[in-house]
Amino acid sequence: ILIGAQGSGKGTQAELLAQELRLFHLASGDLFRQEMAEETELGVKAKAFMDRGELVPDEITISMVLNRIKRLPATQGVLLDGFPRTIPQAKALDSGLQTIKQQIDLSVYIDVPRTELLDRLSGRYICQAHQHVYNIHSKPSHVPGICDIDGSELMQRSDDTGEAIQKRLNIFFAETIQLLDYYDAQHKLAQINGNQSSYQVQNTLLEAIE
Ligand code: AMP
Repeated sequence: ILIGAQGSGKGTQAELLAQELRLFHLASGDLFRQEMAEETELGVKAKAFMDRGELVPDEITISMVLNRIKRLPATQGVLLDGFPRTIPQAKALDSGLQTIKQQIDLSVYIDVPRTELLDRLSGRYICQAHQHVYNIHSKPSHVPGICDIDGSELMQRSDDTGEAIQKRLNIFFAETIQLLDYYDAQHKLAQINGNQSSYQVQNTLLEAIE
């Protein structure tokens, strides 16, 4: 499990790490955005919460993620990104995994100060086709407004602006941060400094996992 606030670089690190360790990258936010794009019932329910920068209720989120995990081959390792975000989600995950004789091996917290997170989030853009992430300050695309990888248009996430950013960070530091104690009590927590270059974070992350 990767734990990190919005803008901590968690998604970028998750992609690199999944490739390096051959893990399936399961990002709950991406699952929700897919459901929204396809206008499924679940997507329509989730949209209102996401647009406001609020968490989607646990009962919707937990079943969506557990169902996705259960569809993977039993031997496939998984990297969870953005889930769990609350203690009830963490407990439901533990018991859901138990029923399929799986377990969490490790969670890693990517620690970044809040002021830095705000700077990063206000410059973040994602591409429409595959949600590749760019940042006007630290990682601009070659052609402004166009994704380097697939050529689709870049856009700002509706929840990366103004009040929604503050709300999402407040939720992270009030609720999600409690997961640190939860996994520490199970001796499954590592913490790393996320306030360094993406390359350094990746190396620190790999060392922590080893
Ligand atoms: P993310 O891309 O991880 O920032 O997620 C985008 C939005 O999806 C969040 O602001 C929530 O509205 C929703 N979401 C993603 N993961 C969860 C989760 N584990 N629990 C509740 N809501 C979630």
